[in-house]
Amino acid sequence: MKDCIFCKIIKKEIGQSKDIIYEDDKTIAFLDITPAQKKGGHTLIIPKKHYELVTDMSDADAKAVMLTIKKLSKALLQFSQGMNIIQNNKRVAGQYVNHVHFHLIPRFDNDGILIEKWTANKYNSESDRLNMVQTIKNLLKD
Ligand code: AMP
Ligand code: ZN
Repeated sequence: MKDCIFCKIIKKEIGQSKDIIYEDDKTIAFLDITPAQKKGGHTLIIPKKHYELVTDMSDADAKAVMLTIKKLSKALLQFSQGMNIIQNNKRVAGQYVNHVHFHLIPRFDNDGILIEKWTANKYNSESDRLNMVQTIKNLLKD
């Protein structure tokens, strides 16, 4: 996709292509240019084909991306104490680059990252909760 920064990395058109850690026929993994913590290692995994949202991916690309996530996670968990996998869809959820990408963020004691920042809410009633179960189940059929 023209003007997509991640497509440019895939095509080796910009400097960040040097930061590619892993590549296969369907996916690449490369360092995020602004890591979430100072020790670095924050890695992005993307399909080579340009899709905007996780729901846009073909099944084959989704499977390939998950295998690359697993491969990179094995490496990152050897030098970190833990790791978060995060994927943002649409601006309201924090998506700023419109090429679907998965963040692998190595975690360390006191690294200052606030991922667990939401407060735990409660459903107003059991029927509200069960209505939500049903709503999502109905949408799965589409
Ligand atoms: P998101 O907010 O989920 O869209 O995340 C986009 C991520 O892409 C951010 O963490 C940026 O630091 C990262 N990013 C943007 N441009 C580049 C680039 N040229 N090379 C590597 N990472 C990038
Ligand atoms: Zn792209």
